Amino acid sequence: MAREEFDLVVLGAGPGGYVCAIRASQLGLKVACVEKYPTLGGTCLNVGCIPSKALLESSHLYHTAQHKFAAHGISASSLGFDLATMQKRKQGVVESITKGVEFLFKKNKITWFRGAASLEDRRSVVIRGAEGSQQTILAKNIVIATGSRPRALALAPFDHELLIDSTDAIALTTVPRHLVIVGGGVIGLELGSVWQRLGAEVTVVEAASSILPSFDQSVARELHKQLTRQGMKILSSAKVKAITTKNRMATVSIEQHESSLVLEADKVLLAVGRVPCSDGLGLAELGISLDHQQCIAVDASWQTKVPGIYAIGDVIAGPMLAHKAEEEGVAVAEIIAGQHGHVNYRAIPSVVYTWPEVASLGLSEQECKAQGLGISIGTFDFKANGRAKAMGEEGGMVKIIADQKTDGLLGVHIVGAFASELIAEAVIAFEYGASAEDLARAVHGHPTLSEAIKEAALAVDKRAIHA
Ligand code: FAD
Ligand code: NAD
Repeated sequence: MAREEFDLVVLGAGPGGYVCAIRASQLGLKVACVEKYPTLGGTCLNVGCIPSKALLESSHLYHTAQHKFAAHGISASSLGFDLATMQKRKQGVVESITKGVEFLFKKNKITWFRGAASLEDRRSVVIRGAEGSQQTILAKNIVIATGSRPRALALAPFDHELLIDSTDAIALTTVPRHLVIVGGGVIGLELGSVWQRLGAEVTVVEAASSILPSFDQSVARELHKQLTRQGMKILSSAKVKAITTKNRMATVSIEQHESSLVLEADKVLLAVGRVPCSDGLGLAELGISLDHQQCIAVDASWQTKVPGIYAIGDVIAGPMLAHKAEEEGVAVAEIIAGQHGHVNYRAIPSVVYTWPEVASLGLSEQECKAQGLGISIGTFDFKANGRAKAMGEEGGMVKIIADQKTDGLLGVHIVGAFASELIAEAVIAFEYGASAEDLARAVHGHPTLSEAIKEAALAVDKRAIHA
């Protein structure tokens, strides 16, 4: 039987892969996408960004009703929650959004092959179905977008019962009594917030000297303060020495500042990063190399050593973020179609959906210092912002870092309510090469949280009005 041929075959239907497939189809290419998971959307839509944000929203509403209504004079007696309904709602959100991608595939005439893909040669993709079927399709171009999976800890492999990963942690059917989280990064703090708001005792064990070690340390410190106030216990500079399990309980032995402590937990979430899914694809046989972190090595056009084979998203180096994967997907589709795809890596925001939220763009203060850059810094606290006061959301601040000589923006860091939305202004400013003065002179609606960005920009030149 003749093998069907496509202009482009995309491996993986996460935000990198499915967006790449859609853009390539828009540009007139005949496109197929191979996905081994039963639904489209990858980690992000099925077990990552979307379900975690659905649970963060539900738990935030509950926490708000519990702790903030009274100050507004609102009484809510016999407040409670039903975890099964919360989980069902989450699953409904996931299903509607993954079905949405299925609709987009149909609309764009993208052929979806169900199964695990590997490369037979530089033009042939073998697809192995779950039920044992096998077929081969031909591709003029191949984009590998196979994403990443949770990193296991050598000293405590996942058992998915007591020692759980993020996928397990978003699917719990009861609230843990004591959830110990190894890793104070994005997943640890977001999922820790969910279960802590729903009543679990949560202890975060972070090896680095602070949570969110790669973020600007002023925002990391502020978030630490706010989460601690909410009841989360955070142990930083803490090393996990051993984890044992017995009688449905885990014992976590920790060394911190040369003293030892032992925690008993009914769940331990291991959230120490993710590893690229670059194995089992037949890459070595084709001469496609991996870097020291198992990421597929690509050039500036996202092409591997083999012409016509590209890689994007979590499976290559860079921040493991859905929007980064999407932008690479668009860019590589445009390159394959003969256009000039581009991603501005300077302007990729990072958001942590705790409450308050953290949003960050560009260089942190410590990165500027390490690079020897002359910088001016302006900060503005939300407690001096009228909208934040009216909302009762006074925690947090905006910090803007500008080049001392040119005033060009180098970094914008926000911790506060809706920081995830506020950072979009900074992204546009970065894209247009704006200075702090540009942000400071732009008229911002009043009263809005975004006025804190204007004030922080004014503060770069020591002329904030409300500080
Ligand atoms: P993935 O989304 O991982 O998709 C890869 C796909 O390839 C998967 O569907 C997989 O089944 C498939 N695949 C793998 N191997 C094969 C094969 N051999 N054959 C066929 N198919 C294969 N990022 C954000 O930007 N914002 C967030 O709020 C956010 N929250 C997150 C919360 C959690 C709990 C987690 C775990 C991650 C979160 N992320 C978030 C990260 C985000 O999910 C990833 O950066 C993003 O999904 C990467 O997209 P991708 O397309 O590269 O890979
Ligand atoms: P991460 O890299 O954000 O954090 C891992 C943390 O674990 C780090 O702080 C690290 O210092 C710590 N750590 C590593 N080994 C340790 C050990 N042995 N003991 C204690 N601490 C240890 O990784 P993550 O939180 O697992 O998230 C994985 C990826 O998913 C990230 O790259 C992130 O960008 C992405 N993600 C993004 C979002 C978002 O954008 N909102 C949400 C969730 C996940």
